[in-house]
Amino acid sequence: MTTERDEDYLKIIASIVEEKGYAKVKDVANELELGPSTVTGMFKKLDKEGYINYEKYGGVTLTEKGMEIARKTREKYSMLKDFLMHLGIDEKTAEEDACKIEHILNPKTAQALKKFIEFTDKEDESRIWIEHFRYFVQTGEYISCSPENRDKCPVHGKGN
Ligand SMILES: [Zn+2]
Repeated sequence: MTTERDEDYLKIIASIVEEKGYAKVKDVANELELGPSTVTGMFKKLDKEGYINYEKYGGVTLTEKGMEIARKTREKYSMLKDFLMHLGIDEKTAEEDACKIEHILNPKTAQALKKFIEFTDKEDESRIWIEHFRYFVQTGEYISCSPENRDKCPVHGKGN
């Protein structure tokens, strides 16, 4: 069982490793704005638990197990960010919230949210509906736009 902190570390290590092949204490410390001794302690713990390969003077890489956790956490993160932005939340807030929610999200909930995005991305009424909803979030104005009066819709009308 991984903790929230484990997941954040593995996620950051994964992106650093992708960039340069390995991650050093310094890289992770900069990224998380923590002291090197805190990061070293965490590297030892993650190594003992089998998530990373840690050599004292080299950089770390992820084990299969560590990679799997990083992948799943990142997947949940980007899905959540999409979902929140889909609702009309600004990108910065969506990123901040996604980073917190990713750790506690039940897979069943994650699945339903993913389906929600898929559903409202279809090229039909459900897409129109979510676009009205976003407008409603931003302006508080409820729009009723049927195909006959769509021209006058502030979101879908001509000139928008
Ligand atoms: Zn409309």
